[in-house]
Amino acid sequence: MTELPRIPTSGGCREEPILKQRGQREVFCGLTGIIWLHRKMQDAFFLVIGSRTCAHLLQSAAGVMIFAEPRFGTAILEETDLAGLADAQTELDKVVDQLLARRTDIKQLFLVGSCPSEVIKLDLSRAAERMTEKYAPSVRVLNFSGSGIETTFTQGEDACLASMVPVLPKTDARQLLLVGALPDVVEEQAVSLLEQMGIGPIKVLPAPRAESDLGVGENTVFALTQPFLGDTHAALERRGARHLAAPFPFGEEGTTAWLRTIADEFDVDAETFERVTAAPRARARKAIAQASEALRNKSVFFFPDSQLEIPLARFLTRECGMEAVEVGAPFVHKGIVGPDLDMLAKGPTLSEGQDVDLQLDRCREARPDLTVCGLGLANPLEAEGLATKWAIELVFTPVHFYEQAGDLAGLFSRPVRRADLLKLEPAE
Ligand code: SF4
Repeated sequence: MTELPRIPTSGGCREEPILKQRGQREVFCGLTGIIWLHRKMQDAFFLVIGSRTCAHLLQSAAGVMIFAEPRFGTAILEETDLAGLADAQTELDKVVDQLLARRTDIKQLFLVGSCPSEVIKLDLSRAAERMTEKYAPSVRVLNFSGSGIETTFTQGEDACLASMVPVLPKTDARQLLLVGALPDVVEEQAVSLLEQMGIGPIKVLPAPRAESDLGVGENTVFALTQPFLGDTHAALERRGARHLAAPFPFGEEGTTAWLRTIADEFDVDAETFERVTAAPRARARKAIAQASEALRNKSVFFFPDSQLEIPLARFLTRECGMEAVEVGAPFVHKGIVGPDLDMLAKGPTLSEGQDVDLQLDRCREARPDLTVCGLGLANPLEAEGLATKWAIELVFTPVHFYEQAGDLAGLFSRPVRRADLLKLEPAE
């Protein structure tokens, strides 16, 4: 019989006080999400309406190959646009006309807002409506914001998926919708485990192509695979779909609890659940035990960045033997991360938002063995002798579900082992 994850004897953190901070913050912008979204949606194009800085961010982060036809680009706002001397809407129409005439493979076009387009209040929803009328039914045009005026980089994916929900066709079919852009291999593992239990039909948002049979309605239940999908969650509920709240599928325990929540909804019996999950669970436990040796009894401090902080703190404390000092998250949405908070033992400071100098002071005082933070903070903290892990790597690396659980622990143990080795090196 599968053991169920238990609420810690000290009580979980769901009702613990949260330190709310609204000061200066250090994060990437939501354009970053385009880098993994364009790989998932094979007939989509992401047109950022932004500055040269936005174009540079995308090009350097995505490592564009000049011989490939990219599925994202930047319509650069020039000084005349920014000064209101040109009609940016007309300019944008011209760019889109040229793009769609040349690229007939594009079936979904996302107009992506940036800091400059928001500062000049360029109305991209109006542009998307106008273009949808012009190009329907061959191309669907949507818009979302990826600007750094939002709080954190994973909001780009959330905003993108949320923009797709209102235009999904209505369906009355009883179905499971998995929500979140995962690497294909990881998504296939999740779908395979669920199908082996007899659960179906299973749909995924985002679908790989616009012309998929993906619909939504009152008989849709959905499970999030990423904890940063708050707006998408709200948009799906507005369409009548019901959320299956569960711990996130990180580590053996989180994956089992996530699968169990779905299995219960679809009346899967305990024997079937055990038959399907026993072997991968055993593999995951073994891999975590090996990869987490260096983490036992070590302390960890999370700066708010990826929005994965709470589920990861649950994984690191319960499955890898770490002690969490502070768990900072850009947002704490209890409807989404509540089940993870239930399983996180009381003790760490829970913080929401950021006031970076105050948080750096707390971190320096705690001197944690590992600090999980954004790129901008990692190098200065390393220079102060603190071992760090870049939060953004957790979104770019396959880390969900059983087969990746050892790799997930390994991502955290590598910097800790390296710091341990450096401590052993005799000083010159
Ligand atoms: S959207 Fe804003 S933060 Fe992001 S690259 Fe463009 S200017 Fe910079």
